[in-house]
Amino acid sequence: MICLGIESTAHTFGVGIVRWNGTILANLKESVTSIKGGMIPAEVAKHHREVANKILHKALEAAKVSLNNINLISYSAGPGLPPCLRVGRDEAVRLSKQENIPLIGINHCVAHLTIGDLLCKTQHPLYVYVSGVNTQIIALAGKRLRVFGETLDIGLGNALDKFGRAANLGFPAGAELEKKSEGGTYIELPYAVKGMDVSFSGIVTKAQRLLKEGTPLSDVCFSMQETCFAMLTEIAERALSHTEKKTLLLVGGVAANKRLCNMLQIMCKERGATFAAVPLEFSGDQGAMIAWQGILENKSGRVDNPELADIRPYERTDDVDVTW
Ligand code: AMP
Ligand code: MG
Repeated sequence: MICLGIESTAHTFGVGIVRWNGTILANLKESVTSIKGGMIPAEVAKHHREVANKILHKALEAAKVSLNNINLISYSAGPGLPPCLRVGRDEAVRLSKQENIPLIGINHCVAHLTIGDLLCKTQHPLYVYVSGVNTQIIALAGKRLRVFGETLDIGLGNALDKFGRAANLGFPAGAELEKKSEGGTYIELPYAVKGMDVSFSGIVTKAQRLLKEGTPLSDVCFSMQETCFAMLTEIAERALSHTEKKTLLLVGGVAANKRLCNMLQIMCKERGATFAAVPLEFSGDQGAMIAWQGILENKSGRVDNPELADIRPYERTDDVDVTW
């Protein structure tokens, strides 16, 4: 049994092909990047429509399968940018109807968590989920993935990208900002932890001002990383203590950052907990995680009617019933 998963919530259009046992056969994607400016939803959707067919066929080729071999089509129903979500949904519905393959629309955030569990062999860890839009500390409680702490304004990735735009680092800026932080020295930025939640916009504003005033870029990048990551580490530690979890799993695009991994790893070690981070290829948005989440939910009996296939732009991690 094989599932084909389609991702299109934001900057990335991806197709992943995964076997029922979790073997990943293909994971192809193309992302919108820019030297200046960020994402304009209608333009990103246009990009996705243009590359959809090419990525689909490349993925089938890489997996050495044809559409006849696919037993389930899964797509990101949300959360995300509506024009982009519609591209993935439309492609999934088209394939489902044309090839008569069962269809399932899943939650993108939950897929970031479960691909981490698959690849790191973790079971019900404390999740630290940091992507462009999302920053959440999550753990399974009962039938829900409960959010124990989250950003009160923008996601960590977006904070780094927003500063990166002011500093001409291109979009997305996280990886470039990480490089530029090397050799920097610390300057105090607004450390904003409110109970179990964090907020990043004050840090971005102050960082932009420092840059305008002529502070070396490496110092600002270094200080941004140290401050944002320390805030996250603080709430993650409190969540570990509260939930009595013994494993922390870092997922989402910002999991690619070595300093963030390092800080969380030190904290875990001091508490006698195990630290794991999703492998780089699967940290950012891609289709393999959408396929795997489709398999998990289908195994537990779910299937959607292609005529009613929806998008759910505002669906939260903790809105989803954990049935798998
Ligand atoms: P996602 O939305 O999960 O695809 O994650 C994308 C986000 O990850 C963007 O905001 C990137 O700037 C960020 N990102 C990617 N690589 C790094 C890195 N090495 N350090 C920090 N952020 C990163
Ligand atoms: Mg994502």
